Amino acid sequence: MEVKIGNSQINDWRGYKGRPFLISGPCSAETEEQVMETARQIALIKEVSVFRAGIWKPRTRPNSFEGVGSEGLKWLRRVKEETGLLVGTEVANEKHVYEALKYGIDMLWIGARTSVNPFTVQEISDALHGVDVMVLVKNPINPDIELWVGAIERIARAGITRIGAIHRGFSSYEKTLYRNQPNWQLPIELRRRIPDLPIICDPSHIGGARQFLYEISQKAMDLNFDGLMIESHIDPANALSDAAQQLTPNDLKELLSRIIMRNPNPSDPKLLDVLGELRQQIDVYDEHLLDLMEKRMKVAETIGRYKKENNITILQSVRWDEIIKKAIAKGKAKGLSAELIDTMFKAIHQESINHQMKVMNNGVKNQDNDN
Ligand code: PEP
Ligand code: MN
Repeated sequence: MEVKIGNSQINDWRGYKGRPFLISGPCSAETEEQVMETARQIALIKEVSVFRAGIWKPRTRPNSFEGVGSEGLKWLRRVKEETGLLVGTEVANEKHVYEALKYGIDMLWIGARTSVNPFTVQEISDALHGVDVMVLVKNPINPDIELWVGAIERIARAGITRIGAIHRGFSSYEKTLYRNQPNWQLPIELRRRIPDLPIICDPSHIGGARQFLYEISQKAMDLNFDGLMIESHIDPANALSDAAQQLTPNDLKELLSRIIMRNPNPSDPKLLDVLGELRQQIDVYDEHLLDLMEKRMKVAETIGRYKKENNITILQSVRWDEIIKKAIAKGKAKGLSAELIDTMFKAIHQESINHQMKVMNNGVKNQDNDN
């Protein structure tokens, strides 16, 4: 699959002030004073490129504050005129797009509740045909990379060249420390699939609480994300939405000063030599892992044949429970997290079952036929 995202690199984007590309402003525009005062203070942080504010708010339940609507677009236009910051807001249908463009909004983002819906994303894409505006596509609320890529493709097809993704974490049924699970492997996979697509992390909606914003931001920078979108408000405690996760502009400034920026493209030959040597060692171990996996699956197939001949079921839960418990205990002694062992062994077990199934159901007679 080929996603054409135009030839515009993020550092050629209008308003780009260097990595991290920073977007900040309130979750919601509430009053003209709140927007203007937040913007004046944000404008003093020279690294911020775009001022954000939600005008139409998608709330989980009705009767919460659902945004000020088009009225707020005038305030954003005023922010742009008085501070020189670029301005951005969320759009969730074609009407939002037309309204936002009418007021000269520079950046539109598609929220997590919208990128799950290809009909709506297509409607937004159709409204964007022939328009030169920055568009950022948030990940869908469920961890589905295809939906995310699909939404990006739909926007790219409208001819938008300044297009990027926002990683805002994924909803889950289990209660976790963060408001939304980061599932970092998804944005990493997105980067692998579309290497030129800028990816911006939204620590506010991942963390859901002020105390997590720094660690998430630092992690995003260490993973070489292009930017950060962090919510800010002059009076976070009294914000009408997302009160627990917004920072005052001063606290944002302080957070930014603590972020350590590391070099994504080292060029010093000495550094590269050392890294190259270590990466070779990793490659060798990865080969070992693959060889071991191949051998393990061959044994699984032999077991499958044996079970077939003797009419025994594939799944033996007591045995499986033993394997995973033993592995977690051994892994712990080797400094490996229970999370790794659990994920790894479940995947290996599933693969093993698949190999056994193949043997049982396809009537494979001998080892030479399996592959
Ligand atoms: C927001 O950015 O304020 C927002 C509603 O985000 P999300 O779509 O990530 O929930
Ligand atoms: Mn918010």
